[in-house]
Amino acid sequence: MTSAFTFELRATDGKARTGVITTPRGKIRTPAFMPVGTAATVKAMLPESVAATGADIILGNTYHLMLRPTAERIARLGGLHKFMNWHGPILTDSGGFQVMSLAALRKLTEEGVTFSSHIDGSKHVLTPERSMEIQRLLGSDIVMCFDECPALPAPDEEVARAMRLSMRWAERSKAAFGDRPGHALFGIQQGGVNRELREESAEALKVIGFDGYAIGGLAVGEGQEAMFGVLDYAPQMLPADKPRYLMGVGKPDDIVGAVQRGVDMMDCVLPTRSGRTGQAWTRRGQVNIKNARHADDPRPLDEDCTCPACRNYSRAYLHHVFRAGEMISGMLLTWHNLHYYQELMQGLRDAIAEGRLDAFVSEFHRLRAEGDIEPI
Ligand SMILES: [Zn+2]
Repeated sequence: MTSAFTFELRATDGKARTGVITTPRGKIRTPAFMPVGTAATVKAMLPESVAATGADIILGNTYHLMLRPTAERIARLGGLHKFMNWHGPILTDSGGFQVMSLAALRKLTEEGVTFSSHIDGSKHVLTPERSMEIQRLLGSDIVMCFDECPALPAPDEEVARAMRLSMRWAERSKAAFGDRPGHALFGIQQGGVNRELREESAEALKVIGFDGYAIGGLAVGEGQEAMFGVLDYAPQMLPADKPRYLMGVGKPDDIVGAVQRGVDMMDCVLPTRSGRTGQAWTRRGQVNIKNARHADDPRPLDEDCTCPACRNYSRAYLHHVFRAGEMISGMLLTWHNLHYYQELMQGLRDAIAEGRLDAFVSEFHRLRAEGDIEPI
């Protein structure tokens, strides 16, 4: 047990990096993919099953938890780790992104955001100080600064205004976070797809000083080409000796491209959400289990996958339970998707450590281009 939060860079291959983040709750191998546990659960998964897929850390959502069951209640019940029975590290977002995308009647001022709950219409205020308090009550290991993230495309003046407000909020977040050994506070770079604004944001964050740095404001409608365009320079604007976290990404090919460009951490609802809508992600791309072609197919989803869905069930079964609306459908496909994502991360980490990332990425794209196995 250590009381410190540290990041050790172990190897690089081009711009890509692999390393280990150490927290008092456990180690996080990077590049890391964080499954999303929005409402104190990674949907359709037991925490031990999430761990069995190879996840070192999960993400919790401040916005959802502050509304229900409330941060104060979770604190009274011993904190988020105990409450949801996940004992590894947890990263919580600040609520900033979701309050702007989910809440009603929002009013944004220099002080913060006033809004109505999407659940019952009750009125709430989120400020940098309140966000830090909520994340402390939850017991989060990695706390995110409160920020404003505009949807793209947006005019440069709007992106600049939101970025500068976020930098003032970053300073207030740091002051409110205080000194909490073993817990980390990450700053969030904003600036949309504008290189000068990204640079200005990175400089402002470095002056304040954080334990890690997120690249925010991407995966908000700009498309992969524009996102990679920003990732061609944005990670290198951030300190090399701290973790770099790309928020809300993404599809498997987004993840591979981000890792190639120097990103260390990512999160996305995609593998879990897809699992509940009959979509599977495999080495050969996306498989729609709803499709009639699977109805008589005795083969596994992916014959090389070692997850329970692939080891013990046929495509025909997965197709049937989805069509029948059985809960096990979401459970098995979510497990498979998370397993696939974590296997991809392990493959990326090994390839970087062994200096063969280019070959790994070529093989990744080759298999996807082949597409799913031929129908029976
Ligand atoms: Zn599988």
